[in-house]
Amino acid sequence: MLISFSSHSSLSDDVLEKYIRAGRIAAKVREKIKEVVEEGMPLIEICEAAEGMIRELGGEPAFPCNVSVNEVAAHYTSPPNDKRIIPEGSLVKVDIGVHIDGYIADTATTICFNPEYENIVYAAEKALESAIKVMRPGVMISKVSSEIQAAIEQYGFKPIYNLCGHEVGRYQIHAGKSIPNVSHFSIERIRLGGVYAIEPFVTLRNAAGKVEEGFEKHIFRLVKTKGSLKNAEAKNLLRVIEGNFKTLPFAERWLSKIYGNNEVYKRALSELLSSKHIMAYPVFIEVSRKPVAQAEHTVYVGEKDILVLTA
Ligand code: MN
Ligand code: MN
Repeated sequence: MLISFSSHSSLSDDVLEKYIRAGRIAAKVREKIKEVVEEGMPLIEICEAAEGMIRELGGEPAFPCNVSVNEVAAHYTSPPNDKRIIPEGSLVKVDIGVHIDGYIADTATTICFNPEYENIVYAAEKALESAIKVMRPGVMISKVSSEIQAAIEQYGFKPIYNLCGHEVGRYQIHAGKSIPNVSHFSIERIRLGGVYAIEPFVTLRNAAGKVEEGFEKHIFRLVKTKGSLKNAEAKNLLRVIEGNFKTLPFAERWLSKIYGNNEVYKRALSELLSSKHIMAYPVFIEVSRKPVAQAEHTVYVGEKDILVLTA
């Protein structure tokens, strides 16, 4: 049997150009935000600074800026009027998404205020580097995962086994195949023309190496537009969500701005959640409450080379 690795073709120049623009903006914002984040700073300032910079540079946020502290691994964004601040000696993951016309670049970095944790951050970066080195059309996804795990363990740490990298699609953060951070059995391969976000999450060796869902949910996403809704406010909010964010994740903060801090949207939001027109993303917390570091780049798999869009 002949196995073809090129059943999917490369992206058109027009689409690739949009990915490249999104990637450049995401990288710029990530580097700028490293200079902005300080101990004692309100998390909401970081979220709004990152999202503001994305728009200034001509992009749109592909999802709310995530600022996840210590054992919170992912999916924390500030709710409206968030009073939380960056604790002293913490490990802060900032995860940024940018889209141009729906084409997404996803990137993350970890800012470290505790010298004890610096090696965790280093291991996450090295694991990301090792993964990118083996990316090419046709390579087994399990190979990429094994590289990530091996690099993390080489530095004496543990990967988070239930958080994965992922393919991105137009207006879709998680499209196509996942890229686990641990070695596993799979016959899936990296495909030519694919755009992948690779994101090793690293924790201490004596940690559980696993995340669980927390109670807090500040990020939401449209799931369906059909299905009956009695409440006029809910109907209206559904139209607002579809018009502004399509199928991309959004923050309650953003709704609060659209509604001019008028809280009428809150009841409509709960109604849309219970009718399953939208879904909520719970925060992910490391089960043993150990600190977590993350590094992430989005890469395009071309015929001849791998383009790190967020480099
Ligand atoms: Mn990300
Ligand atoms: Mn991602």
